[in-house]
Amino acid sequence: MPELPEMATYKTLLNQQIGGKTITGVTINREKSINLGSDNFKNKIKNQQVEMIERKAKYLLFHLKNGDVLLLHLMLGGWMFYGKAEQKPDRTVQIQLEFGDQYLYFIGLRLGYLHLLSRKEVGQGLTDLGPEPLNVNFSLESFLDLIKNKRGRIKTTLVDQAFLSGIGNRYSDEIAWHAQLLPERKVNDLDHREKAQLYQSIRFILSQAIENGGYMDQPLFEGDIKTGGYHKHMYVYDREAKACKRCGSLIIKADISSRKTFFCTNCQY
Ligand SMILES: [Zn+2]
Repeated sequence: MPELPEMATYKTLLNQQIGGKTITGVTINREKSINLGSDNFKNKIKNQQVEMIERKAKYLLFHLKNGDVLLLHLMLGGWMFYGKAEQKPDRTVQIQLEFGDQYLYFIGLRLGYLHLLSRKEVGQGLTDLGPEPLNVNFSLESFLDLIKNKRGRIKTTLVDQAFLSGIGNRYSDEIAWHAQLLPERKVNDLDHREKAQLYQSIRFILSQAIENGGYMDQPLFEGDIKTGGYHKHMYVYDREAKACKRCGSLIIKADISSRKTFFCTNCQY
């Protein structure tokens, strides 16, 4: 599932591609992916200008000129492509937004969705989210305060959206590896140095992943060389039985709270 760095990359690229552009047409092939009747949904967004695109946690918010918001969550398997009709990937498209002769295709929306909401409804719907880990106000002190009463494992705590926004299965493993902490460790067993390291690693890994374009394996548009650049930088995720990039031992894969987890037992403690 795309996480904070993937959605941040989409946000940057989509602002460049469709920021300020007007939606000239809408096609809905899967009604379950939207929250209104198809005709109603289309009528409400057609001829609306996309003022800008914002990211919150793993969501993208397409702010429309009339104050409404298209709220996107890609969930598992969802992705997007922007281009002309002849460039469309050979995949089933659930929703497409038309911008003149270019289209934004939403693909793989099985659990994912695009909901049309008022700004107020979006605000009310996203109240359960924890702080944004890359926010300038998210200091070490605020992190220490946040985990003070936490008792779960590092893995399950990091992916808890009410604790911190935007981290999922992949980056939780990357962060634990970078912090040299075993993902099964209990947060309340960490000493001060380990907690401070965990904080540094959260910031470092997410920033590095954004800088490198995240891990999505499909480009957003033809000629997009940004998206997916983090793939080759992955330290542990999906690297079972490969050499640890720090110590050379083989990476282990195990289930932690029924989540696929990758780590190195030789240099994570
Ligand atoms: Zn190692």
